[in-house]
Amino acid sequence: MFWWAAVTFASSDLLVKFRVLHAMHAWCQRCRAGGGGYFSGTKNGNPIATQLAMYHHIKQLMYTVRIGQPDPRFGNMLLEQFGGANGELAAAMQYSLQGINCDDPERKDLLMDIGTEELSHLEVVGALARMHLKPTKSDRNAAHADPLIAIAGGGGVAFINSMGNAWTADYLKVTGELDVDLRSNIAAEARAKIVYERLINFTDDPGTIDTLQFLMSREITHLKAFTAALESMGKPQFSIGRIPPTPGLVDQYFNDSTGTGDRGEPDAKGPWNTGGDWQMVTAPAFQPFLSPDAGTRKPGEHASETNSFIQQ
Ligand code: MN
Ligand code: MN
Repeated sequence: MFWWAAVTFASSDLLVKFRVLHAMHAWCQRCRAGGGGYFSGTKNGNPIATQLAMYHHIKQLMYTVRIGQPDPRFGNMLLEQFGGANGELAAAMQYSLQGINCDDPERKDLLMDIGTEELSHLEVVGALARMHLKPTKSDRNAAHADPLIAIAGGGGVAFINSMGNAWTADYLKVTGELDVDLRSNIAAEARAKIVYERLINFTDDPGTIDTLQFLMSREITHLKAFTAALESMGKPQFSIGRIPPTPGLVDQYFNDSTGTGDRGEPDAKGPWNTGGDWQMVTAPAFQPFLSPDAGTRKPGEHASETNSFIQQ
């Protein structure tokens, strides 16, 4: 289990905290080497990072992993949550990197908490995958289930996905804009949840299901926390960044796929294009500009020239 400076939360007494942190500071090789720190601010007008935080590993899994019969093919599928695009390594790195870059101390704390929990998830899913992959060390049929793990990895887990593609930092969504990053994290948690759900659907081992159910539930916990953190910033829902969108243009819905499809696909109406501020523009490619500068098009649902062109 990875705890983000777990001792710092053991006491609410600030003096005790300070002493603990001071002692931790003295141990920390990274701090002595002048590495990055957790608490940042200014002193005498100069930026400082007081370097009072570090990782500590506790030799205890966050959830006890038990399985029945190992299933090497399922072990291979589990790698998707170890080194895959929506897996635990990606989650841990995404939130930790956002946290390191975050200037909002309260949401930085949230990002470091959840980033660290994801490292604990990585350890749990790694233990689970390894138990299922272990027969690939010696059993020929098992090795056939994942040749890369069996031959190159000696039966151990690796930072690859279920198809053997190497983990990449390209999986991470980090913009440095806190509310935008929180939206990415909400989506990441939803993806992790659905991948766990699919994994649960492809095993009937009770112990494996228990572990996956635990991990899946925590992703919903994180989804709730990131959603609340985003809402607590108090930004209007469609306000991103500081430059406002072009009035008029922002409310035009471009109906770019018109007519009736070969299989009877409808030209759909819904709250995503109708009602409220929405203004429908049918087939904007065939409509004259309302304002060439703004990029707005003449609105309307049934432009005759459009329909005659499309029907040809
Ligand atoms: Mn996780
Ligand atoms: Mn999560």
